[in-house]
Amino acid sequence: MIIAGPCSAESEEQLLLTARALAESGKVDILRAGIWKPRTNPGSFEGVGEQGLAWMARAGRETGLPVTVEVANAKHLYTALSYGVDMVWLGARTTVSPFSVQEIADALRGTKIPVLLKNPMNPDIDLWSGAVERIARTVGYENVGLIHRGFSFYGKSRYRNAPMWHLAIEMRRRYPEMMMVCDPSHISGKREYLYEIGQKAADLSFDGLIIESHNCPAKALSDAAQQVTPEELIALLDKIRWRKGSTDSPEFVMALDRFRGEIDQIDAELFDLLARRMRVAEQIGRVKKDNDVAILQSGRWNSITERVIAQAKELQLSEEFLTTVLEAIHIESINRQNIIMNSEE
Ligand code: PEP
Ligand code: MN
Repeated sequence: MIIAGPCSAESEEQLLLTARALAESGKVDILRAGIWKPRTNPGSFEGVGEQGLAWMARAGRETGLPVTVEVANAKHLYTALSYGVDMVWLGARTTVSPFSVQEIADALRGTKIPVLLKNPMNPDIDLWSGAVERIARTVGYENVGLIHRGFSFYGKSRYRNAPMWHLAIEMRRRYPEMMMVCDPSHISGKREYLYEIGQKAADLSFDGLIIESHNCPAKALSDAAQQVTPEELIALLDKIRWRKGSTDSPEFVMALDRFRGEIDQIDAELFDLLARRMRVAEQIGRVKKDNDVAILQSGRWNSITERVIAQAKELQLSEEFLTTVLEAIHIESINRQNIIMNSEE
């Protein structure tokens, strides 16, 4: 499923030009536009409000595309419904607030309109699934979908929002039947990165994308750097390869079974080793306790880290990965020692 359209509806002309070009391509299923925009600073362009809904309705009628807008409170929802929108979504700044989500859930009572839930701003998966539960109570699980748009963080990085793909994967595990699309526009913040994120989403079996497209991105009143023209969007969509969920080909099934067997075996050995390592850490904890020595010996920890990192190249593992694993092992080891040190025996 491809949802596309401008970050914000800005004028009737802008919306219609964009919508027509998207519809003509035959590659877009739903038209999106923000009508009320949640902006970080007051005084930025905050959306055109209700008049934009009339433009959306016209764009939908003319192109035959269903239309969707963001709603952040009950009033937005009632107004959007009165203009016949086909679907609504809750933005990341709304999913983060249980009060707002509940208010919208209550206002949805009696409707069966599809609702897409963006992940909350912060990487709190329970807040995301809590929002699913609230909305599903009134519209039913079959009418709820998910949008992965990345998570905010402090500092500089390649992307505007950290993708943290594992959280999307965890939502997929919690709601295997639920449609989940990726929003490469808000993850990337920059049009140059749309393709790599879109392709990754396709590789991770997402059900589609929601991407911002504007007839003249340079003049966009919000999110200019991440929007692409309809032509650029179509070229991008042509480039992304969507792979099949699976195949019955016997060679594939046999090869996969063999490698999965190997992986299961290696995992068993790996976890057995980790358990052994933790038992040794506990013995160290006992020796330190008997001698009243502190748990953290930073010299020792530095030398372990240096030794392991030095092996990274040889092992063909990334430093980042090794560091993450090592830190997890170290923390668990400290926790175990801590329990021993502070036990009564
Ligand atoms: C948007 O889709 O234009 C938007 C405001 O996104 P988000 O809620 O993901 O920031
Ligand atoms: Mn936007």
